[in-house]
Amino acid sequence: MHRYAVASRRARLLADVLRTRAIDLNDRSTVLLITEYLEMIAARLHCYPAPATPEPNGIPRNLAPDIDALARHQASIPVGLSVRIFEYVTAPLTGMPVELAPLNPASDYLATQERRLLDAIAVMAVRVDDESDAVAHSALAGLLSLHNRHDRLAHLAAVTPAERSVHVRTGTYRRAYHPHAACPALTGKRRTYSGQESMPERMARAEGLTLCRRCPA
Ligand SMILES: [Zn+2]
Repeated sequence: MHRYAVASRRARLLADVLRTRAIDLNDRSTVLLITEYLEMIAARLHCYPAPATPEPNGIPRNLAPDIDALARHQASIPVGLSVRIFEYVTAPLTGMPVELAPLNPASDYLATQERRLLDAIAVMAVRVDDESDAVAHSALAGLLSLHNRHDRLAHLAAVTPAERSVHVRTGTYRRAYHPHAACPALTGKRRTYSGQESMPERMARAEGLTLCRRCPA
């Protein structure tokens, strides 16, 4: 299959996925309009012969208005429908792979979620051009869900502040956690002090330790 045919098939299958998904989305009419554009793009790409010389951006000239219209509608698509999914249609034309910028979340939990999502997306993306329509269809549906989750994660990563690290005593004499490593209540009383370590504030709380009132502000 030449790249027009690959993109055409992806557009047709994605239109199908979106039509099914539209039932669960709040702005159904926008989604259905988008599926119509996708089907138009699929039909046109299907008729075009493979270009002898590559066009700029790889997008066939006659197709540019439809692609632009699709992009305009993407700005108003409902929540719960990641615009990244449309890049799977244009990727075979432009030769640009679908790439996600690192989110660099402050929390380890979100970083783990991000790694898992990227792995799952990579696995699913391989199946988008599977010989079987059913496999390719479910791969696109899966990618849509994964990109929706990635969008939500990107939002969370942007709003969740870094978890502060606090200092606690090692050994048996520990009842409080200290934002400041040099707090006199932490290092004082040499008889009971056997060293200190740091941990996320959440862990210190989970251990039943309380915030030190004597820590310098
Ligand atoms: Zn303190």
